[in-house]
Amino acid sequence: MPGKDYNPAMHTAEHILNSVMDKMYHCGRSFSSHIESRKSKCDYRIKKGLSHKEVFAVERTVNEIIKMNIPVGEELVSRREADKKYFTGKLPEDAGDTIRIITIGNFDACPCIGQHVSNTSEIGSFSITSADFNDGVLRIRFRLLEHDAPEQEIRQPA
Ligand SMILES: [Zn+2]
Repeated sequence: MPGKDYNPAMHTAEHILNSVMDKMYHCGRSFSSHIESRKSKCDYRIKKGLSHKEVFAVERTVNEIIKMNIPVGEELVSRREADKKYFTGKLPEDAGDTIRIITIGNFDACPCIGQHVSNTSEIGSFSITSADFNDGVLRIRFRLLEHDAPEQEIRQPA
């Protein structure tokens, strides 16, 4: 394993979270995000905040997708096609004429220039650490835990 760099996993988790949020709350993908290996955050424009139950449902759904061991692939499309079919709001204007679409099986497809894992099984376990709502913006902070050592089991011995 080349070091402990979780960025490709984090990047892929972001795609899944965005897709889940849009499917569940029709809020679109995050308009702003900050992805780091230890902790990441995504901002969504949404009418109201989420209850604990709703946050848990989002987390559970993301983990269900991860556990399906879905292959992550890429496709190249023209900028025009990308603008027509995908959310390109976060692509830089000068991204060029050929746009890379990251696909997560049939579940999600989104243009992205970042690095990703090749299968969702590499992501680990997805954990939302907070979901704060302010002025129409929901900020979800999340991290990834390794499959082998779920944090809850360490914190809460039986
Ligand atoms: Zn990405």
